Order: sequence, then structure tokens, then C-alpha cells
Amino acid sequence: SSVSGPGRDPRILAIANQKGGVGKTTTAINLGTALAAVGEQVLIIDLDPQGNASTGLGVPPSQRTGTTYDVLQEEVALTDIEHPTAVPRLMVAPAGVELAGAEIELLEEPNRHYKLRDAIDAYKRARPDLTYVMIDCPPSLGLLTVNAMAAADAMIVPLQCEFFALEGLGQIMRTITTVKERINEKLELQGVILTMYDKRNNLSREVEANVREHLGEKVYKTAIPRNVRISEAPSHGKPALLYDLKCVGSQAYVRLASEVIQRERAR
Ligand code: ADP
Ligand code: MG
Repeated sequence: SSVSGPGRDPRILAIANQKGGVGKTTTAINLGTALAAVGEQVLIIDLDPQGNASTGLGVPPSQRTGTTYDVLQEEVALTDIEHPTAVPRLMVAPAGVELAGAEIELLEEPNRHYKLRDAIDAYKRARPDLTYVMIDCPPSLGLLTVNAMAAADAMIVPLQCEFFALEGLGQIMRTITTVKERINEKLELQGVILTMYDKRNNLSREVEANVREHLGEKVYKTAIPRNVRISEAPSHGKPALLYDLKCVGSQAYVRLASEVIQRERAR
């Protein structure tokens, strides 16, 4: 039933938005968990120096044997740093604060846009069962996010339903177009996910109407509601889906995962 699988190329999805606090990491963790739960073999690559995806998946700094910084420096492979999580079939490649320096340190390197793509290519060869890679991007459109876009098949853009959401969306859409033209012609938009949605809030509903009007089918039917259980889960080092599967937030991520899979099947 798997979209990809042994003998087929895994799908590489980058989760990006230059704004912080819009639900990128929460989406990476819970979408990754939901995919693993239905049988996919998933690697989450933490590409944010804050390392929230790593911590949220139960890998605190003290347990990180190496990080994505070392991978981008070509000192180690993703297989050297991957870490199991509480979720079967879900691995994480952790990040650390030193990653903040990579934006500048890689600047002079001719191959600087493709460091992550090359590392993932090697990982795919070492892990033939792999079916999905999800890249959790930092809150900027700098070299780290460009590395994610260069490696990805498709982008998932979480969008918080607030006043400046559309301006921000325009900026990331232009970046995707530029990367597609110059760096990675196969790059697509998998979809835009409305996060921290509050259906009783007029602004939430207005932003939703606006985004759906502009992007039509590219916006997932499932919106992720604001839900306190979702925000509690990371401090327990667990995905919300393990912390409280029945809460409305977890259930929304389960539905989102099936939309993501449907889109992959429809390709
Ligand atoms: P980003 O990775 O884009 O910076 P996060 O996923 O870390 O964003 O989310 C920012 C904060 O909002 C975190 O504290 C997270 O727990 C919380 N959060 C994310 N999604 C939800 C939600 N649906 N309901 C409530 N809190 C959420
Ligand atoms: Mg984050």
C-alpha cells in the first residue's frame, strides 16, 4: 500500500515557511509519525539550529552523537547521526546550535546548495526500505532552506491564519519558483496547510477564504486547529499522536497524512 517503497525512490518533502512559530516543526513531527503509523519508513531531518524537532522526538542535545551540521560539512553521513524515536519506523537526524554557523561557513563552497541533496542520496542507497524524508526547515529562506528545497521533491508550507499570512506566502512561493528555475527543476508544491486554526475567529476564517481562493486545491482540506494538547506534547519528548491520539489536533494530523498520501498516489 506504500506510495514509494523498496525499489522506488523515497519521497522527499521539505516543510518550510520563513516565519517562526507557524507550525513547521509540529507538522514535521506529527505528519512523520502519522506516516510511520501507516507503515511508511520515515526519516525526519532537523535543519533548524534550534533543534526543536530533535528534542520533540525525544533526542535531547546530550544524546546527539552528531548533527546535521556535521553532515553538511561532509564529516559524517546521515546514517552516522540518525536516531530512533519512540515511534517505530520513524528516525530523526538531529540538529544543534552550531548549525547556525553553516549559513556563513558554506557560503564560499561551489557545491553549497547541494550538500543536503548529496547526503540524502547516500542515505537512500544505505536504507533501501526508506519511503519518506521530511525536512524541518529553519525560519528563514537562507542557505539551509535552499539546501532543503534543492533536495526536495515537494514542499509543504504551514501557514498560520493571521493578518500577514498572505504576504509571507507570496514570498515563499516566489522562492520556490526561483529554486525551481535555477537549482531544482523537479520541485513542486505538495500543499499549504492552515495551522493553529480557530473556526470561531473571524480573522482565521477570512485568511482561510483568501488562501483557498488564491491557491485552490493546493490548500489541504484539513486545517490543524489550535489545540493545547499539541503544544504540551514536545515537553514530554513525544509526538502529539503518542501523547494524546484522540485530541482534535492529533486527529487533524492523521487526516492530513491521508491527504498527503493521496496526493503522492495521484502523481
Ligand atoms: P515553527 O517550527 O514553525 O517555528 P512550531 O511547530 O515550533 O513552529 O510551533 C510553534 C509553537 O506553537 C510551539 O510551541 C508549538 O507547540 C505550538 N503549536 C504548533 N501547532 C499548534 C497547534 N495546532 N495548537 C497549539 N499549539 C501549537
Ligand atoms: Mg521549528
